[in-house]
Amino acid sequence: CFCKLQGKVDDCNCTIDAVDYFNNKKAYPRISSLVLKDYFRFYKVNLKAKCPFWTDDSRCAMRYCNVKPCRQSDLPPVYKGFANGGDVSYTLSKNLASDDCEQDTNAELSFLNTTLSASIMEDFAAWKAYDDAQDYYCQLPDVDDEAEYVDLTLNPERFTGYKGKSAHRIWNSIYMENCFRPKNSYGAYIRSSKLNGMCLEKRVFYRVVSGLHASINLHLCANYLLSERESYGIISDTGRWGKNFKEFERRFSPAMTDGEGPQWLRNLYFVYSLELRALEKAAPYLEQEKYYTGREKEDNETVAAVNDFLRVVKTFPEHFNESAMFQGGDSAKKLKADFKSHFRNISRIMDCVGCDKCKLWGKLQIQGLGTALKILFADHVDFESEAQKGQFSTFRLRRSEIVALFNSIARLSSSIYELDQFGLTMR
Ligand code: FAD
Repeated sequence: CFCKLQGKVDDCNCTIDAVDYFNNKKAYPRISSLVLKDYFRFYKVNLKAKCPFWTDDSRCAMRYCNVKPCRQSDLPPVYKGFANGGDVSYTLSKNLASDDCEQDTNAELSFLNTTLSASIMEDFAAWKAYDDAQDYYCQLPDVDDEAEYVDLTLNPERFTGYKGKSAHRIWNSIYMENCFRPKNSYGAYIRSSKLNGMCLEKRVFYRVVSGLHASINLHLCANYLLSERESYGIISDTGRWGKNFKEFERRFSPAMTDGEGPQWLRNLYFVYSLELRALEKAAPYLEQEKYYTGREKEDNETVAAVNDFLRVVKTFPEHFNESAMFQGGDSAKKLKADFKSHFRNISRIMDCVGCDKCKLWGKLQIQGLGTALKILFADHVDFESEAQKGQFSTFRLRRSEIVALFNSIARLSSSIYELDQFGLTMR
């Protein structure tokens, strides 16, 4: 099968085989059950924010694009106590201990908003002054008054039927406007996976976006709405979900993608390796979290399951090496600032997605990736020594960042597992 990849993961030291073995045998079973825990299951998100870039004209009309509301009885007490009108939407009280950095963050976000609107070159001085310790790569959903809790288990990422102009405009803007991307010999930007001549940082940026795109499209092929043709020629919805091999081939085979499909799948391995390294790096911080939901037994089980997962993550032999990135004085700092600003723009583009279910998972995975980048490039933090002191004074993750990080690695892990399953059947 074209989907059986080989060799090294690009820009990493590990091999595809090592990732397959580690993920399918060790990580996938653990992370897929971990994200069912209450702490990770409820994600706070604003799906009603206006698209800041263009008039949000086309909406997905299919019922599979809808997001089902939370069931009140399922919500952990810590969220239920602060119901915010109606029985489906809940917001954490601003007085809760976990939100005590709200004020700082709001001030910081308004700073970011002003820098975003101006050109990055003009604002470089302001960027220099910006304190890395409070760095965000994304818009933060839990500082947003309109955000509501969504039960992710009621809304699995799968085929929704969202496609056409609206979906293309999103991917197009991400690649053509916001991604560092390859140029052809005439200096014009092209949309290709051939990254020759691009520096490591720009290759990384392109690969994480393309890897995420591959993961989303792989999930929709693995969880496709299987239709059957009825006798009068009408396609009817059978309500059965499963693998669609034709769709998978259309999206990833070299013949159907100008040879690019397998490279997109390789980028999936890259973004997985990058997020795995972020987990390893932040393990001392994540191990001291309480994962509090107010359900004591559940919380104890969550802590144990997180620690077990992190223990396994640390056994992965060849982690991605982020220390090679952003080296070299002022130009490296400028590149890092560009990297952040491009990534934040992508997070804002998610408000333009015209299908709520796709928007939910798009936002979550972009926030997860943004959190991984925040961890990887937090040069000022010595995670081990702060953990030994028993207190992190220079680094903090909000609840939504932790939820997004674990859920996004769970999505990538599931994609790699599903790819293996496609490979086994299509051999
Ligand atoms: P698209 O996937 O729209 O891709 C457009 C073009 O990009 C392709 O023609 C190709 O040239 C290039 N390309 C494709 N893959 C890659 C890659 N990995 N790397 C680099 N370039 C690539 N649909 C669902 O059914 N369920 C979902 O949950 C879902 N979530 C989405 C989330 C977001 C944020 C977005 C923007 C879209 C989502 N979609 C979802 C829609 C889905 O991703 C496709 O856009 C849609 O199925 C149409 O597919 P397409 O074949 O036209 O190509």
